[in-house]
Amino acid sequence: MPAASDVPVAVPFLRQVDTFRLLRAQRQNRRVMNSWSAVPVALLLGAAVAPLPAQAQHRHGAVRLEIAVEAASLDVALDAPLDALLGFERAPRTAAERAQVDAMFAALKAVPPPLAAPGCTLQSAEAASDVVKPGAKAAEHADLQARWRFACRDAASLRALDIGVLMKAFPRIAQVEADVATASGQFRVALKRPATELRWGR
Ligand SMILES: [Zn+2]
Repeated sequence: MPAASDVPVAVPFLRQVDTFRLLRAQRQNRRVMNSWSAVPVALLLGAAVAPLPAQAQHRHGAVRLEIAVEAASLDVALDAPLDALLGFERAPRTAAERAQVDAMFAALKAVPPPLAAPGCTLQSAEAASDVVKPGAKAAEHADLQARWRFACRDAASLRALDIGVLMKAFPRIAQVEADVATASGQFRVALKRPATELRWGR
């Protein structure tokens, strides 16, 4: 464990962006290869789901996470069908639905955040979905993207992310699939409710 004075306070933003770019590029490659065979796959709690075909991205009840672990930071990006968070995928039409949208953003950007990892402190949280903005053009399906950045005392030793608060806040989320990029390799992990911990590596 590093001494307190070694704990970095500034998140190396560009390095984090690069990590995500790398992860995305690798996903693209895998799509081209149409194969997951080269990817280390960690399965959880006997409750794992089979890897999704890359095309089946929008499935109600299923959300995706991209987790990037660096020496001193943890980045988590969420891509969720709005249905999994709200039960509808369009601009709110009533006061009750507007309140639901507000509550969704409040839960995603809450402090403490709905995701937790030991030794990690939230640096920033963002959440956005074009379709819930007033006057937004309606679409058949719509997603929400959110992102959390953490500064961590020893991110390299992280092997798990606790998403229990997220699962509690959004009961329509039935399963979670995550791609994890770490210095020691990449992992694809998954869980189904009622499990609340994504675990990777050894
Ligand atoms: Zn949908």
